[in-house]
Order: sequence, then C-alpha cells, then structure tokens
Amino acid sequence: MNSKIIYSIIVPLYNEELVLNESYRRLKEVMVSTKENYEIVFVNDGSKDKTKVMAEEICASDDSVKLINFSRNFGHQAAITAGMDLALGDAIIVIDADLQDPPEVMLEMIKKWKEGYEVVYGKRIKREGETFFKKFTAKMYYRVLKSMTSVDIPVDTGDFRLIDRKVCDALIALPEKNRYVRGLVSWVGYKQTYVEFVRQERFAGETKYPFKKMIKLAFDGITSLSYKPLVIAGHFGILAFIAGIILMFTDIIKDLFNKSGFVNFTLMISINMMMFGVTLGCIGIMGQYIGRIFDESKGRPIYIIDSTKNYNNTSKKYKVINLEHKIL
Ligand code: UDP
Ligand code: MG
Repeated sequence: MNSKIIYSIIVPLYNEELVLNESYRRLKEVMVSTKENYEIVFVNDGSKDKTKVMAEEICASDDSVKLINFSRNFGHQAAITAGMDLALGDAIIVIDADLQDPPEVMLEMIKKWKEGYEVVYGKRIKREGETFFKKFTAKMYYRVLKSMTSVDIPVDTGDFRLIDRKVCDALIALPEKNRYVRGLVSWVGYKQTYVEFVRQERFAGETKYPFKKMIKLAFDGITSLSYKPLVIAGHFGILAFIAGIILMFTDIIKDLFNKSGFVNFTLMISINMMMFGVTLGCIGIMGQYIGRIFDESKGRPIYIIDSTKNYNNTSKKYKVINLEHKIL
C-alpha cells in the first residue's frame, strides 16, 4: 500500500487470543467498506498468551496490519499512546479488541469527521453484559470527575473515539507519564462531537481491567485534571479545627457551671481514630500526587518497544527502526 493512509485504527491487545481473529475480521470488513487507505495498528501490551504469534500471523498475510510489541505490560493507556505515536493516518480511531465497541460505529465517526469535527467520541447509551458493580462505579466516577474539573469531560465515554491528525499531534506533544488519554483529548480542545452506541458484551475472554487497574486509571484521571482532592483535604482540616474549638468551649462552659467533667474514654478514642483516619487519608491523597510528580521527575518512557511488524514500507521507517530496543 503506497498511497497515503487516511485511517489508523489503534487496537490495544493484552491477552486477547480468544478475540483477536474475530476482531481483525470485523475491523477489516468495516475498513474495506470505506474504500480508502487504512492501517490497523495492533499494540501488543506484553501479552502472555498466543496474542503475539497470532498478530504476527495476521501481519504476515495482510500488510495493512501493523504490530507494535511492548517489552512487557505497560497498560492500556500506554498502548494507546504508542499507537498514536506511530500512527500515519489523517484520522486515528482507538477501539478495544474485545468488540465491546462495535467496529461498525467507526463509519458514523468517519462521517462526522468528514463533516469537519476533529474529535468524535463514542457515547455509551447502554452497557450490555457488564456487572452492576462495574456499571455503577463507572457512572459515579464519570460524574465525580466532571464535578472536579473545569475541563469539559463528557460522561459515559471510554477511549473509543476518532481524533484528527491535529489532535493526535497535540496529544503526542504532551509528555506526561500516567496518562488518562480520554481526559487529555478533552483538555486539548478542538471541535468535538459524539456518536451514541450500545456497548456490547465482551466477545470472549475476561476483562483485562481488574479492580486494581481500574483504581489506578481512576486516580490518573482525577490527578491529571484536578487539584480538588487536595483542596477538600484542606477543608477537612478546617472542619476538624472548628469542631475542636467548639468542643473545648463547651467543656470550659461546663466547668464554669461546675458540672462533672467531660470524661468519656470510648468517645475520645473513637474521635481520635476518626481524626487519624482523616489525616492518613489526606496524606494518601497527597501521596497520589507526589507519586506522580516522582514519575515525571524520573523521566522514564511511557513504554518500551521490543519489536514491530510491517513498519518497513512506511515513511516512519526511520523513526521506528531507531525506536526498537531503545527507550522511547
Ligand atoms: N488492555 C491493554 N493492556 C492492559 C489491559 C487492557 O492493552 O493492561 C486492552 C485490552 O486488550 C482491550 C482494552 O485494553 O483491548 C480494554 O480492556 P478490557 O476490554 O479488558 O477492559 P473493559 O472493557 O473490561 O473495561
Ligand atoms: Mg472490554
């Protein structure tokens, strides 16, 4: 494929052997129907199953498919970032491998892009086959995040979206390490719109987002876009101080009227424990920010590429060859 690539489809993969072939088939079908040039960029995020071998087989039979293999698991957001760094298209679409984001929706996104929008995100109007816990926590989280930041982050959207080359270049230029890509897309601005879709059940396999990874992503979102948790921690301090003063004065007044002293040990201990909890919680919140400052100061790369496939005939050949086995 020599002529200019119009669409880059970025697909992060972590242990997706059960869905990869079907995912490729559906993506290919949709992209062929556009009758324009495209590349499908699989980013293998350190999978431990057959994902790598299977993706390499697909690359061997189809040179519109490219593969980036990480040296280990760096996480979903790092995989998306790598895909964007190496994407060649004028429009870049990020989509999950598990077919929860229906590939056919990409055509609606492309239509909006052609109308002149530079970001078209997928808005989930319904989520099928996900646990009540996941749906509830996600719904709450997006609303809390929105209330915490002045950046206009659309609720109920994931990373399934189309971005214009301009937006992609703006994102690539952001050096931060603990990336919350969907928040950064809102932060960079540009003309944004959405298409609605029903989030499907996972085609096969299990979620690759266990609770620990979900919490990390949630904190990345909040810390990268808002200082509010630190401000709230400060407010707790003021509240506790005022409560202490009130207690002290009521005690003094009681003494003045010669009533028996305020000695209730259980109450004292529980108040103390509560205040300890609040203090440690506030230190924990500070830790979330300090840890991220530490990550930035180390200046380590967001990901390390071990190898790539099908990048040989592209204009980014030089760049990719230089990146392999080196630190990005
Ligand atoms: N993923 C990844 N690295 C990870 C975890 C997930 O590249 O460490 C990929 C995964 O293969 C999938 C996408 O990110 O294509 C979304 O993951 P998943 O479907 O498991 O998340 P969920 O839809 O359950 O939130
Ligand atoms: Mg999924």
